[in-house]
Amino acid sequence: MKDTPMKDTLRDLSQYRLVQQLGVPRIPVLRRYEPGQPLLDGPALVGSVGKGGLADDVRALLADAGVAEAGEDGTVAGAVLDATGARTLDDLATAREFLTPAVRRLAPSGRLLLLGPVAAEDDVEAAAVAQALEGLVRSAGKEVRAGATANLLVVAPDAGADALASTLRFFLSARSAFVSGQVVRVAAPVGPVEPRDPARPLAGRIAVVTGAARGIGEAIADTLHRDGATIVAVDVPAAGDALARVANRTGGTALQLDITAADAPDRLLAHLRERHGRVDVVVHNAGITRDKLLANMDADRWNAVLAVNLRSQLAINRALLADAGLLGDSARIVCISSMSGIAGNRGQTNYAASKAGVIGMVRALAPQLAGRGATINAIAPGFIETAMTAKMPLATREAGRRVNSLRQGGLPIDVAEAVGWLGQAATAGVTGQVVRVDGQNMLGA
Ligand code: NAD
Repeated sequence: MKDTPMKDTLRDLSQYRLVQQLGVPRIPVLRRYEPGQPLLDGPALVGSVGKGGLADDVRALLADAGVAEAGEDGTVAGAVLDATGARTLDDLATAREFLTPAVRRLAPSGRLLLLGPVAAEDDVEAAAVAQALEGLVRSAGKEVRAGATANLLVVAPDAGADALASTLRFFLSARSAFVSGQVVRVAAPVGPVEPRDPARPLAGRIAVVTGAARGIGEAIADTLHRDGATIVAVDVPAAGDALARVANRTGGTALQLDITAADAPDRLLAHLRERHGRVDVVVHNAGITRDKLLANMDADRWNAVLAVNLRSQLAINRALLADAGLLGDSARIVCISSMSGIAGNRGQTNYAASKAGVIGMVRALAPQLAGRGATINAIAPGFIETAMTAKMPLATREAGRRVNSLRQGGLPIDVAEAVGWLGQAATAGVTGQVVRVDGQNMLGA
């Protein structure tokens, strides 16, 4: 049986007018991706500022996906502004002229997406403007309503439209339902970008998911499989039955493995070599918490958390890099960090250290992997409705759920969709980054 996330009773009740009349604001029901769903649920506005040159590529991508360009009025499902040419405060004012009416027209679960320039080193005003777009988008994320999101893609001049496409699709589609207020850099691709069927962008890829027996890992396995990947599901022997069910359901193989064991990297690599011949996507998802205030933190709690959450990832990555042939062309490594690793959390010095460590590891490994056409990124989930969060005391759970722009917890599938985007061969220009899947949590922003 699949993990059933906690019910969000307040959100369900808030759909009723009577409850709204009592002063409870309506908590939006987010549009989430389903196979066959259109990229956007209505027409899109596309605009540009300065000499950006990406607006036509955006229009072509939208037309290809069957999305009509919006007319003078009516609601819009998406608004994309190419501000990569913005250099001056006047350009910023032009951006505002596009965005103000666009935000007013944005439909529920609409998408506001800005494309911004890389900050110029030799032009102070242009550097200020590039950074200003971040402030603008992060604020817009807090203002847009009814499940809409606002995000910024900082696009390098040599990125190219092909390398941008998979990222544009992710941020425009319902796959990014719980991602808002984010700034993602799209650079020149680390390798060739081959066109893929957007409905099955992971077709033919072999993906390892650790901690795949339940929770977020289980959703990642299901989602990557839905998008075409063959899954290698890894979890501890004690979770063997659940693991076998996930592997059977996803047509893949199961590997019972404690990833902290000294021989875990060797056993994982041997399994991949013997059963699959290579690996294209590695998802470091397994993680544990052993909370205690620092004043009471013992070595066992500290070491257990660091071993699962960080040491195992370092060891497996080291082994993968040392093996010349196993990482496929256009390999993608995705590491699950946490908002705690960014903002810190009371009682979680061990967990936050491990999750911040993951971010440090990702940044250091990105240049090493780029030479092999591979990328590595971290995803930092915020409050996600899982068995883990269901065990929280009611008041803590309610507080955790509501302190983000979308006023609800995310679902395991929201993290999984982000993994699916970063796992694509086509996402070759995004590396060394941390993407938060947290509904724009107010903490650590
Ligand atoms: P979970 O406890 O439901 O699942 C974790 C899985 O990892 C389990 O199946 C477990 O058996 C497996 N695992 C643990 N130790 C292992 C080991 N030594 N070897 C192999 N497998 C092992 O947790 P979850 O909520 O699904 O979290 C998944 C990841 O997301 C973790 O890294 C967690 O830190 C992170 N995360 C979760 C949340 C949230 O709100 N749930 C928020 C931020 C980050």
